Amino acid sequence: MNVTPAQIYILGGGFGGLYTALQLDRFSWKTSLKPQIILIDKNDRFLFTPFLYKFVTQELQQWEIAPPYLKLLAGTHIRFCRGQ
Ligand SMILES: Cc1cc2nc3c(=O)[nH]c(=O)nc-3n(C[C@H](O)[C@H](O)[C@H](O)COP(=O)(O)OP(=O)(O)OC[C@H]3O[C@@H](n4cnc5c(N)ncnc54)[C@H](O)[C@@H]3O)c2cc1C
Repeated sequence: MNVTPAQIYILGGGFGGLYTALQLDRFSWKTSLKPQIILIDKNDRFLFTPFLYKFVTQELQQWEIAPPYLKLLAGTHIRFCRGQ
């Protein structure tokens, strides 16, 4: 019997959304049940807020505190969608 994999849409790629997506992707699903995970955010970059001050004080560069989702999710099966 063919089972269509579920789709899981996660709205907001902050700490909560991003880490939920990564945990779900790492979960040991039965191959046929592995859901398609879609992460949606209005921005194209994850903002690492605890180090925001290091950006303001020029200790870190933008790519270090705000890496693009596409880069963070490379090597996973998570699809990123930019939207509201
Ligand atoms: C300067 C600063 C420093 C901090 N330092 C620490 C710390 O050291 N330790 C600690 O534990 N916590 C810290 N925090 C708090 C921490 O950042 C938050 O608790 C955490 O980010 C909350 O996670 P979240 O996923 O709920 O929300 P967020 O991280 O705010 O993520 C929400 C995401 O949803 C997206 N979004 C919102 N609305 C929409 C929409 N309509 N459509 C699409 N996307 C949308 C946003 O772009 C964002 O990516 C800090 C916060 C700030 C501002």
